[in-house]
Amino acid sequence: MDDCLFCKIIRGEIPSFKIFEDDHAYAFLDINPFGRGHTLVVPKFHADQLFRLPPEELAGVMPAVQRVATLLRNRLRCDGMALMQLNGACAGQTVNHVHFHLIPRYEGQPAGWQPLAPVPAAQELAALRDEILGR
Ligand code: 5GP
Ligand code: ZN
Repeated sequence: MDDCLFCKIIRGEIPSFKIFEDDHAYAFLDINPFGRGHTLVVPKFHADQLFRLPPEELAGVMPAVQRVATLLRNRLRCDGMALMQLNGACAGQTVNHVHFHLIPRYEGQPAGWQPLAPVPAAQELAALRDEILGR
């Protein structure tokens, strides 16, 4: 899809803080995170909603969801992990390319569904990416 934001990110036409990539999936930090380490895992196959993602593509992306969740847990030492996937504007979907939100959660901290304030600067996200990747 030529004008899809996440397809452009996958193709490298729009920069992202990449966490993981394989043949089926691309994972990168959300620029407006609900929690520290909020990461999006997207199938490389373009489908606007879960209903139109071929089952074999879903099967291709889910190992990356688990792998990235494990990486975030290990590197950020979070206590829990939220997995969220929205379909349709009424559900809160704003980008029409299937994506899985992974949001690290911590004991004693609010597990809200709103963006952190202030929005982290690019430098902060770059440092977080390096921390997650163990650089
Ligand atoms: P949705 O509400 O569709 O489930 O989630 C879309 C997510 O994409 C939001 O959490 C939003 O912050 C994130 N997002 C939107 N534009 C960009 C972008 O250009 N780069 C990155 N990394 N994330 C984005
Ligand atoms: Zn797309």
